[in-house]
Amino acid sequence: MLHSGHVRIEIINTGTELLLGNTLNTHGAWFGRELFKLGLRISRQTTVPDGDAIRDSLAETLQRADAVIVTGGLGPTSDDLTREITAEVLGLDLITDEAALRSLENFFALRGKPMVDANLKQALCPVGADILPNPNGTAPGIYVPPQLNRKSNCAVFLLPGPPRELYPMYHQEVAPRLRALAGVEAAHEALVLKFTGIGESDFHDGIDAKLAAVPGLEHGYCAHIGELDLRLIGNRQALEKGREVTLDRFEPFLISDDESSLEKIIVSLLAKRRLKLATAESCTGGLIANRITDVPGSSEVFTHGFVTYANAAKSDLLGVSPSDIETQGAVSETVARQMAEGALRVSGADIAIGVTGIAGPSGGSDEKPVGTAWIAVALQNEGTESFKVFHPRNRKDFKLSVSQSALEAVRRKLKEL
Ligand code: ATP
Ligand code: MG
Repeated sequence: MLHSGHVRIEIINTGTELLLGNTLNTHGAWFGRELFKLGLRISRQTTVPDGDAIRDSLAETLQRADAVIVTGGLGPTSDDLTREITAEVLGLDLITDEAALRSLENFFALRGKPMVDANLKQALCPVGADILPNPNGTAPGIYVPPQLNRKSNCAVFLLPGPPRELYPMYHQEVAPRLRALAGVEAAHEALVLKFTGIGESDFHDGIDAKLAAVPGLEHGYCAHIGELDLRLIGNRQALEKGREVTLDRFEPFLISDDESSLEKIIVSLLAKRRLKLATAESCTGGLIANRITDVPGSSEVFTHGFVTYANAAKSDLLGVSPSDIETQGAVSETVARQMAEGALRVSGADIAIGVTGIAGPSGGSDEKPVGTAWIAVALQNEGTESFKVFHPRNRKDFKLSVSQSALEAVRRKLKEL
């Protein structure tokens, strides 16, 4: 039995479409998440085209890995060579597995389709290896235990490419074998602390070294637009210590410690406080409302989402003063405040967001460069707060950044109430 912390698992994904960029290789990420649940990690992932290219990759991997999972190339066509090449590299003969052949015949009989000769090779299995049944398709998987041929200490799993066949087969056939091989007792857990308003560089100032000093704790960062994930891995005690060190310093910036999104946290804060939210958006084009309504249960707390892109829409729907738009400009503090207050009045909600900004690429000026946005948060009976942000990015990232700033302002306001 191998120690779970030292098991070297590699993934080889086959498929020319993965390298041409036609299909996003999602298997790697999926296996990363699933194996972590077993306390295991992928040490290397390789993507190769269909056909002969798998030979070198597999031969190399067999030298250094304890287990390899190969996906794809088990189909009936001439470029599906995973089975044949694996047997060849391991020096094992292929023989027809009678049970696999019967289940292939069954598969076609049930669907009233004839089985062609090309399918026969899908019942081939290296001598001494296990067939992994595939109730969702024609290609059974194959498991070659370590040392079957005395050449390799590496366990080999050959699995079909289509996710709807691969995922159930992994759970049924692969995970239990990996667990047995590695003797896994879910030794390590992960904790993701989601922050907004601080960046990686803020951690370098003291906290990073403190986290590195926690025994048995591994930490890493992942930056997204307007968000930073701190990932902690270790046993429960190490995680607790890591969390304490971090929150001592950065608690006000914490969105969640269970991977909940900012919008999900806002919906639950609104629900807890029995408050309703409305939005009045210009430059974000409804993105804030969209993010809120992505959260199940948002209908309990979200009333109106106004997308007032034209000046006339701001005035007609929200009562923004045309002369203020004229004198201050559509992107101004007063317009953002009037949008939020108008949304509050028209909707009857308890809290409303107003955002107006310049996404670009044109429309900027020295005084209001592209990337400028004004955000206002208005509360029933508590007045309105407003502030300016500057996110000079492409349109999509600008919208996401502004929505993030606006939602973060709402989160902080709700925390205070
Ligand atoms: P099989 O082993 O069943 O023959 P295959 O790889 O030969 O699998 P394909 O027809 O190439 O079968 O792929 C089936 C589907 O699975 C395709 O839609 C393909 O894009 C998808 N797929 C295969 N590998 C991946 C991957 N790594 N990530 C995401 N999708 C994948
Ligand atoms: Mg393929």
